[in-house]
Amino acid sequence: MMRERRVHGDVLIIGSGVGGLTAGIIMSKLNHRVTVVEKNPLPGGLMRSYVRSGIECPVGVHYMGSLGKGQPLRRLWDYLGVTSLIPVERMGVNGVIDRYIFDDFTFDLPESIDAFEDNLRRAFPLEHSQIVTIMGDLRQISRSLFSLDMLMSPERNFLSPDNFESMGERLLRMGCSARLFSVLGVPSTLIGVDLRECPAFYYHMTLASYLLSSWRLTCSGSQMADAFVSRLKLQGGDVVIGDGVESIQVESGRAKGVVLQSGRILEAEVVIAAVHPGILIAMLPADALRPAYAERVAQLENTKGLFSVNLAVDADAHESLSYNIYRLHAEEDGTLSHGIFHQLRDSGQSGINVLSMMAMNGIDEWRKWEGTTSGRRGEDYVEAKEEKARIFIDEASKLFGHLRGMKILDIYTPLTIRDRVKSPGGSAYGILRSTGQLMKTASLKRTSIAGLFLAGQNSLAPGVMGTMLGSFQTVRQIIGHERFTREVMGDFP
Ligand SMILES: Cc1cc2nc3c(=O)[nH]c(=O)nc-3n(C[C@H](O)[C@H](O)[C@H](O)COP(=O)(O)OP(=O)(O)OC[C@H]3O[C@@H](n4cnc5c(N)ncnc54)[C@H](O)[C@@H]3O)c2cc1C
Repeated sequence: MMRERRVHGDVLIIGSGVGGLTAGIIMSKLNHRVTVVEKNPLPGGLMRSYVRSGIECPVGVHYMGSLGKGQPLRRLWDYLGVTSLIPVERMGVNGVIDRYIFDDFTFDLPESIDAFEDNLRRAFPLEHSQIVTIMGDLRQISRSLFSLDMLMSPERNFLSPDNFESMGERLLRMGCSARLFSVLGVPSTLIGVDLRECPAFYYHMTLASYLLSSWRLTCSGSQMADAFVSRLKLQGGDVVIGDGVESIQVESGRAKGVVLQSGRILEAEVVIAAVHPGILIAMLPADALRPAYAERVAQLENTKGLFSVNLAVDADAHESLSYNIYRLHAEEDGTLSHGIFHQLRDSGQSGINVLSMMAMNGIDEWRKWEGTTSGRRGEDYVEAKEEKARIFIDEASKLFGHLRGMKILDIYTPLTIRDRVKSPGGSAYGILRSTGQLMKTASLKRTSIAGLFLAGQNSLAPGVMGTMLGSFQTVRQIIGHERFTREVMGDFP
């Protein structure tokens, strides 16, 4: 059989987060000349960590699912060739990945779908029929995730009406208790969506990915980012840093290249925007897009930002935990009202561990400083951050006892996230993947400009795995189903 002649066109990617770099490595492997452009002085977007007092503080990678041998994220990493460059450790070795601590009860999320079912049955013995139904749905999506068939035929997964239904509505219809509702509410927070609005498909995909196995980095997020960059370069790709894209050039309805902030022009046959679609629109000539597309994006709601506190603590008094702790508060009807994520792990420095804490946080609380930039927001901002951080530290003291050797390494707000990666309003997970927005977000990839594509967390789903799957799908859209099946999926280890 004759092999299709390979196209060696230039591909320009805007944004060097995990989404942009993933698309870049795949296109390089397909023998395209790839240039990734990043506005920041260092590549990696949310993947990259930062250092305070010599200790790495994470940003967008606290833990990831499905990195076990043969599991979906691991297969994507293997294909890209990054697995051996990113040291990780398996969580849940003592049977717990996440501990959910509510005011009056605790639930442990274990590794494996079967163990999860056992824990649910033990905790909710009177809800047998509900658990049977929930587990049936979860197993079905888990199989689809495991086989990566969503990369081959995404329509099959998305266009089924069942997937439009909200997970919360489904549970209410089944007559779930408030307590079961609150336990099952936690996974949807991992993509920034409330359970009542979370499409069943996204819900199961997120939960299944972590149940298959959960992992955290034993290196810095910066090393993870550098691993992606080095694989891109090894394939012949290039990364331009510290020079963001100012505008995208469009001629006769086709993307032609980009103009950088420095004034440099980079021509390309394909432009992939691995950034929020709102940013994409701002880079385009006013009349380039169909008005309906721009209107749709302007109306879309984004996920909230995150407020995060990183503390150094005495490692002897506060030993590293192989699981995360969620301290949660629920309303009487089971709706989660507030939750703080905690991760206590090795800092890489002798005698010191790091306690990272995070909670969803809207930008409204920080509006006063909206017009300021990172590092130059003034003393009152620092005080406001510290005051909020004290609440987190008090909560943590109740969980871990007096925090011996405690030192605040850093505190960041949604404004920090906004300034770092340009996500609107400091949104952590981009466009809100809610049932109400499912149809509008499904067609976002079709920009109506030939040669212009969307990748990254806004193209399919957030999180490291959702973002990477989205970028694989974008490549499929660019090169066509047949070539994707043959040259990408056919090349999977
Ligand atoms: C605090 C936090 C914690 C998280 N924790 C986890 C977790 O534990 N596990 C998990 O799986 N997911 C987590 N996530 C989500 C995950 O980090 C993201 O879904 C993922 O990293 C998004 O990758 P991306 O490439 O789409 O976007 P980004 O990483 O945001 O990359 C976009 C890049 O584009 C660049 N850019 C923007 N405008 C321009 C321009 N004009 N020109 C050039 N470059 C530009 C930005 O600087 C940025 O580098 C977390 C997110 C946050 C915010």
